[in-house]
Amino acid sequence: MGNKSFRVVSDFMHHKVDPAIRCPGCKHVSRVTGLQFLRMFRHNYGLGDAAKMLRCSLCGHKGAEIAPLPPER
Ligand SMILES: [Zn+2]
Repeated sequence: MGNKSFRVVSDFMHHKVDPAIRCPGCKHVSRVTGLQFLRMFRHNYGLGDAAKMLRCSLCGHKGAEIAPLPPER
């Protein structure tokens, strides 16, 4: 299995992998496509910076964990 590196928000689209955005506060997980994810930001942020900017739509917790989802089979 390839060990793809995810460093910036556009990497998900390039690798055709969808990101899962997980709230460390309430454990809410949202799935978006790589393109949607890239459009959530105005620039191609590093994933660390992007994670800090995300706010949970359920509990309002600032900051999220971003992880690549394995492709569905
Ligand atoms: Zn939350």
